[in-house]
Amino acid sequence: MSLNNSLMQRDLQVLWHPCTQMKDHETLPIIPIKKGEGIWLEDFEGNRYMDVVSSWWVNLFGHANPRINDRIKHQLDNLEHVILAGFSHEPVIELSERLVAITPEGLNRCFYADNGSSGIEVALKMSFHFWLNQGNTRKTKFVTLSNSYHGETLAALAVGNVDLYKKTYEPLLMTTFTAPSPDCYNREPGESWEDYSLRQAVAMEQLLAEKHEEICAVIVEPLVQCAGSMRMYHPVYLTKLRAACDRYNVHLIADEIAVGFGRTGTLFACEQAGITPDFLCLSKGLTGGYLPLCAVLTHDRIYQGFYDDYDTLRGFLHSHSYTGNPLACAAALATLDIFEQDNVIANNQKLIQKMADATAHFADHPNVAEVRQTGMILAIEMVQDKTTRTPFPWQERRGLRVYEHGLKNQALLRPLGNVVYFMPPYIITEDQIDHLAKVAWEGIELATR
Ligand SMILES: *Cc1c(COP(=O)(O)O)cnc(C)c1O
Repeated sequence: MSLNNSLMQRDLQVLWHPCTQMKDHETLPIIPIKKGEGIWLEDFEGNRYMDVVSSWWVNLFGHANPRINDRIKHQLDNLEHVILAGFSHEPVIELSERLVAITPEGLNRCFYADNGSSGIEVALKMSFHFWLNQGNTRKTKFVTLSNSYHGETLAALAVGNVDLYKKTYEPLLMTTFTAPSPDCYNREPGESWEDYSLRQAVAMEQLLAEKHEEICAVIVEPLVQCAGSMRMYHPVYLTKLRAACDRYNVHLIADEIAVGFGRTGTLFACEQAGITPDFLCLSKGLTGGYLPLCAVLTHDRIYQGFYDDYDTLRGFLHSHSYTGNPLACAAALATLDIFEQDNVIANNQKLIQKMADATAHFADHPNVAEVRQTGMILAIEMVQDKTTRTPFPWQERRGLRVYEHGLKNQALLRPLGNVVYFMPPYIITEDQIDHLAKVAWEGIELATR
């Protein structure tokens, strides 16, 4: 038996994989990875795969990046971890200073969690608790967008809106208000992204006008609803939303866990709308895809709302064991160095254009309803009927066929349902983008037959 196969057998004896119907693996092989280098993942038989999904949207500068490796190794020899209550360390202080400096104006406090979902819980609890500390006991609800995703823990799931992940657990979840998404896939023929997003802002405004007394915060994924099939909208929606939240005395939580750190073309998506949220959640790319870490940034008014004598019990008594882990902070610092030293945001513009050019012809495919792009995220929506935009029945799992074709052709393209997307690390080359476009086209041809 090959090493690949024996590892797969051992794996299937003892593991339970995330977001997976394990029975699928009776036919679909698990791929054990021996080594990562740059954009490449290599298995035990020497097969290579381009990591086009950035290992679930986390990797920014390739696997085994020497600069990130060195920083972590150096940190490892000094301090692997220390309790962050009562104690502190240099990496977490420097990281906080730098995050305050590069995030939208006004955000000047960093709280840490150890993954994205936990960070969402932090923002929700802080928002609710802030109002409570003000003596406001009526604000207990959150507003979410349809088709949104904020993670898998129960409160994060409750403020999400993708049925596939949420519906089963509905009896366990707090109730939320849902406003229609500005997702521009649903715009009328001929309508611009801007006009459609503006039109959708009206419903949000009405909801806030009616219910604001009960509402702590609105939570959104700025510009791209990633887990919700890479649906996209215009920044004007965020500008309108910020104004409405101010008008109705409601917090705005920006979940940039997936879209932060250059994915949308700017360092943070909120920049494109010129807004500062009350809470900014960052994870995934924060450590360059190396280690779990989440930063929740907020501003002085929130911070001061908790600052008081201990016995008032206004403090935020929330913690995670690995809060602010030094190794993860070191990886984050190395990641920020790369952004600065390599002028990444400016240099990505060429890759963004290349991704558009290499996939422009997909729009003419008879089973492609839309090719959409926001910065370094490009998505291709496969449909059964192009004119009516009728989707393929989900049970047919057409996307899986694209995935299988990709694996045979050096590409880890892991579609979301019927949406094939590229969200590559920023070290991808123009030739690699051409190769991906070719493999994706063939995959879509096979899958839609
Ligand atoms: C991935 C993701 C999360 C959850 O982060 P985890 O680290 O997987 O818990 C939350 N929000 C968005 C927008 C995400 O893409």
